[in-house]
Amino acid sequence: LLGFVYIASRIQKQEQLIEALDESQQQERKLSAIKEQFLANMSHEIRTPMNAVLGFTRLLQGQPLNEKSREYLGAIQSAGENLLDIINDILDISKIESGMMRLEPVSFSLRGSLHSLQTMFLPKAAEKRLSLSVLIDDNVPDILYGDALRLTQVLVNLINNAIKFTNEGAVTIRVGRIGGNDTFVRLLFTVKDTGIGIATDKLPHVFDRFNQAEANTTRKYGGTGLGLAIVKQLVELQHGSVAVESLPGKGSTFKVELPYTLGEVIPESGIDLYN
Ligand code: ADP
Repeated sequence: LLGFVYIASRIQKQEQLIEALDESQQQERKLSAIKEQFLANMSHEIRTPMNAVLGFTRLLQGQPLNEKSREYLGAIQSAGENLLDIINDILDISKIESGMMRLEPVSFSLRGSLHSLQTMFLPKAAEKRLSLSVLIDDNVPDILYGDALRLTQVLVNLINNAIKFTNEGAVTIRVGRIGGNDTFVRLLFTVKDTGIGIATDKLPHVFDRFNQAEANTTRKYGGTGLGLAIVKQLVELQHGSVAVESLPGKGSTFKVELPYTLGEVIPESGIDLYN
């Protein structure tokens, strides 16, 4: 009888444990949902007024203004854009870290995406008298299936840094094919600059959150130290990898390896790439 009571009480304890586990899982899910809702609300609540500020600033810039007003308006615009960048970075990193960043694969033209990127950055590079070239190897297929927006986000961060930390010379973006078969391809994206470079002891930490290689970099170049952390997380979410080589005073090279399904793919089969 005692044995029976003992076993019965063990079973009851286990059931209680399972119930408690269920409850804690439910709690966790509830908290996740609250966090997701909070992030979505925050993002909307902050972006909407900021976009209004920037929109009206642009409208005012089309009006006749004296020199001082135009200068102040320019300052408002660039501060607003900075703030929006910071907010987007913080929201992105929280979204990734809470596992809520969802990839959205589509069919896209790689050459088209890179051409748009080049067009977008040419004025910024020209301002610093830097050349900005895009080289795509002939054996790189053009129509791919994957998250084109997140690829653009990764490259925007890397090209932005390359231009920001380079005072003379060139920024070169290169794409090569490093593997695959007739259904998928592995590509290597290289963003190379002839800029200030990164000290060897800081190199292993550049992908850490809030990490800036030089203590005085923040004031001199601005930025949040979140860009490369986002790059690394986004690349890994897409089953890729990122690495950096750099020589202080000579320049840096960031290498991103990413897999893509080939061609126009029916969504169901293409999504497998990320699962
Ligand atoms: P930030 O917003 O400061 O640019 P990132 O995460 O993008 O943040 O970069 C982290 C740090 O790595 C930068 O502050 C800078 O010190 C260094 N870094 C990144 N890219 C480059 C580059 N192309 N050349 C030199 N230093 C770089």
